[in-house]
Amino acid sequence: MKYLVILGDGMADCPIEELGQKTPLEYADTPKMDELAKKGTIGMVHTIPDGMKPGSDTANLSVLGYDPRKFYSGRSPLEALSIGVPMKETDIALRCNIVTLSEEEDTYEQRRILDHSSGEISTEDCTVLLDAVRKELENEEFKFYAGTSYRHCLIWDHGEVLDLVQPHDVLGQVIGDKLPSHPALREMMKKSYDILVSHPINIERKKQGLNPANSCWFWGAGTKPALFPFEEKTQKKGAMISAVDLLKGIAVGTSMKVIHVEGANGGLNTNYEGKAQAAVDVLTKDQYDFVYVHLEAPDEMGHQGSVEKKVKAIENLDARIIRPIVEGLEAAGEDFRMVILPDHPTPIALRTHTADCVPYLLYDSTDLKDNTWKYNEKEAEAAGNFVAEGHQLIDRLFEK
Ligand SMILES: [Zn+2]
Repeated sequence: MKYLVILGDGMADCPIEELGQKTPLEYADTPKMDELAKKGTIGMVHTIPDGMKPGSDTANLSVLGYDPRKFYSGRSPLEALSIGVPMKETDIALRCNIVTLSEEEDTYEQRRILDHSSGEISTEDCTVLLDAVRKELENEEFKFYAGTSYRHCLIWDHGEVLDLVQPHDVLGQVIGDKLPSHPALREMMKKSYDILVSHPINIERKKQGLNPANSCWFWGAGTKPALFPFEEKTQKKGAMISAVDLLKGIAVGTSMKVIHVEGANGGLNTNYEGKAQAAVDVLTKDQYDFVYVHLEAPDEMGHQGSVEKKVKAIENLDARIIRPIVEGLEAAGEDFRMVILPDHPTPIALRTHTADCVPYLLYDSTDLKDNTWKYNEKEAEAAGNFVAEGHQLIDRLFEK
């Protein structure tokens, strides 16, 4: 038996007027998921424990079977794992964005944050900028590690887990009262601006009308994650397919194989077929027992607030990931159990995550049912199956 989780990030939503009061999942043309639903079981699952922040970090830990109340120690430490940062028990990991601040004001505190991603600057250019910062600011206590595009990591030896402002939450605002309360972090952000503002890469970016990457911004502090191997917990050899550092970090932390798929980029035009093929290959050729296939696109389209693109992302998940995976496993003669679900809702109306329950679909190729329902929020709720503890859903996948 082979096992799969297919995760459509942020796929759940609320009824939308322009879709005739249907949700994107309900409105989207998803023949494969509906077929699997009829032959399988649907229900609702509560992935975000009460009082925890709804995010892909907490929710995906849940879905993978790790109770976030026990195993979640912040987002940045998980990303740090994915970029290979060695963390000690006494280390604090922080996300270090390189952001765009306005430049016309007199003091650092008066500047506004214009872009949390510096125009999604290339990894190559941003690594050069981070090197310039590192040369001046790195010491025994603080170490910088380069990640992807504008996303980097700061490791703070014997640091503190502080409450820090997420840069994408305060776009357009004056930064004075958004800066870290800790003087060392605040000073480093200030100095990073002085280092970066006249860097040749930024002078060139401004000439080209691009946002300069002119300041560090620290957030997402956390301690070393205390995850344990997935195989130890489940006796299943597992692999992760995702474009996103966070999911790769969870895989590193749980000693799962991380599969790199060329052209998987977290966007609407990701390499769907490549992900599907990689999933079939790792199960059939590499003899893994379990694969987790994560698709970022529905969440991203939810953040963008585009109904049309979110529907498209869901249709792509159905036609270009789920269908070829099912066909590939059937062609290989494999029996399989599969659960399809979102990690959390990212309602178009809110353009951010909520902690509401999400619909799941559980399918077993060796135990076909004969239901009339389709896979969407309303019918999953009406089905009456409910998993109150998200981290226990995976037991249903592996049971019997
Ligand atoms: Zn999101």
